[in-house]
Amino acid sequence: MGVSFKFGIGLALAACIMSRSFADEASLRAIYKELVEINTTLSVGSCTRAAEAMGARLEAAGMPASDIRVVVPPEFPTQGNLVARLPGTASGEGALLLLAHIDVVEANPEDWERDPFTLIEEGGYFYGRGSADDKAMAAIFVDLMATYVQEGYRPPRTLKLALTCGEETAAHFNGVDYLVTNHRELIDAEFAINEGGLGRLEPDGTRGYNAVLAGEKVYQDFWLEITNPGGHSSRPQRDNAIYRLAAAIGRIEAYEFPIEFNATNRAFFESLAEIETGPLGDDMARILADPPDVDALARITANPSYNSILHTTCVVTMLDAGHARNALPQRAGANVNCRIFPGHTQEEIRQTLISLVADDGIAVSFVHPPETVGAPPPLTPEIVEPIRRVTEELWPGVPVVFSMLAGATDARFLTPRGIPTYGVSGIFADQATRNAHGLNERTRVQSLFEGREFLDRLIRIYARGD
Ligand SMILES: [Zn+2]
Repeated sequence: MGVSFKFGIGLALAACIMSRSFADEASLRAIYKELVEINTTLSVGSCTRAAEAMGARLEAAGMPASDIRVVVPPEFPTQGNLVARLPGTASGEGALLLLAHIDVVEANPEDWERDPFTLIEEGGYFYGRGSADDKAMAAIFVDLMATYVQEGYRPPRTLKLALTCGEETAAHFNGVDYLVTNHRELIDAEFAINEGGLGRLEPDGTRGYNAVLAGEKVYQDFWLEITNPGGHSSRPQRDNAIYRLAAAIGRIEAYEFPIEFNATNRAFFESLAEIETGPLGDDMARILADPPDVDALARITANPSYNSILHTTCVVTMLDAGHARNALPQRAGANVNCRIFPGHTQEEIRQTLISLVADDGIAVSFVHPPETVGAPPPLTPEIVEPIRRVTEELWPGVPVVFSMLAGATDARFLTPRGIPTYGVSGIFADQATRNAHGLNERTRVQSLFEGREFLDRLIRIYARGD
C-alpha cells in the first residue's frame, strides 16, 4: 500500500499501519511551525534564533549538549548555523551529512494573502515563507534526529546535521561555505543529502517521478566593458562604444555552446524517454544516440528547461551605457550571466567570451570571484539503489529521475570540496508549489509527512552502510 493512500484515509488508520505514531506527527508539526514562524530573512530576521531553537529541540530530546553547536560568524551575528551529530558505532565509516538551509527569501506581508511568518494550514497545504524552501526539509531532519536520540538509535555511520544560513543571499554570507572553510570537522562527511530533489506531482494529482539532484551548473557573471573619448552627438563618429558593444552582444547571442552529456543528464533523459510517451519520448531517446539526432536535438533544446541541462548557456541580462542624450557614449557595459556545464572552468568560459567578442577594446572580467568547481557527485550504486528501493516501497511504479540543476544550491560548496551532495527529499510538489521564492509559498500537508517517512527510511539504509 502506498503512503499516498495511507495519508488519504486519515490519521486514525495511518497511526495503526505506519511505524510513525500520532506523537511523531505532532512533533514534526511543532518543529515545522516554530521554524517557519521564526523570521530568518536577511533584512530583519535571524537564523541564529532559529538555530538556537532547533538546538534546544535536540537537547530536549536527549542529545548531549556537547553534540550540538550553534556556529555564529563573529561579523554576522544573525547568520547563525546549527551543527549536531549522532555518533556512529563504526569508527571507519564516513559520516552522512543532513543539510538544509534555514534562511528564507524576503516576504512582504502586504503582498501575501496570508501572513508569511505564520504557519497556516488550509485546503491540504501548509502556507508560509520557507514552508517549502527549505524549512520543510530542515524540520524533518530535526524531527528525525530527535527521534533517533529518543530511540537510542546507534547506526554504524555517524549522522551529522547542518542547518545553515545564507543560501538565498550567498554573496552576503553563506553558512555552508563558512563551515566547510572554518569548521570542516563539524560537517565533514562521506556524502550529504540536501534540498533540490522534489517528487513531481502531475496536474491530475498522480506522481510523475521522484527527482534526485546530482550536480549543478556553475553560476558566473561576466562584465563586458568598452570606453571611448565620446563627443558631441551632432557629430557622430564611426568608433562608437554602444555600437561596438552591441555587435559583440550579437555574436554572443548567435553562439551555442557545444551540447554535452555526463552521467547525470544522460540518466535524466534515459529515464524520461521511458516515462514520456509519443514524439517527445522518441526525441529524448534519439538525442542519446551516438552521434545525437540533430533534428531531435533541435526540438529538445527548444524547451528552455531541457536546453539548460545540455550545455553551458550565457545570456546578456543587463546593459549600462551612455551618460547623456546628446553625447556620444564614453562607456558601454553589459552583464553576461553564464550557467556553466560541470567540468568547465569560469576562466575557460571567459576565454570563449573574449573570442566571441572579438574586439580588443572590450574588456571581459569576472563580476565576482569564481567559486571552486568540480565534477558532479558520482551516481554510484551505494547512493542510487537505496533511493530507488525506498521510492518503490512507498510509491510502487513511480520512477526515480536523476537530474542536474541549472540553478544552484549549497551543494556547490560541498561537492567540489570532496563531500558529494545529492538533492533528495521524497517531498512531492505540483508546479505551483515549486514556485518557492514567490508569493504564498506552500507545501502539501501529505507531502511533508511522506517526506519524513521517505527520508527516515533512506537515512537508516545509508546509516547502516549497506
Ligand atoms: Zn532553498
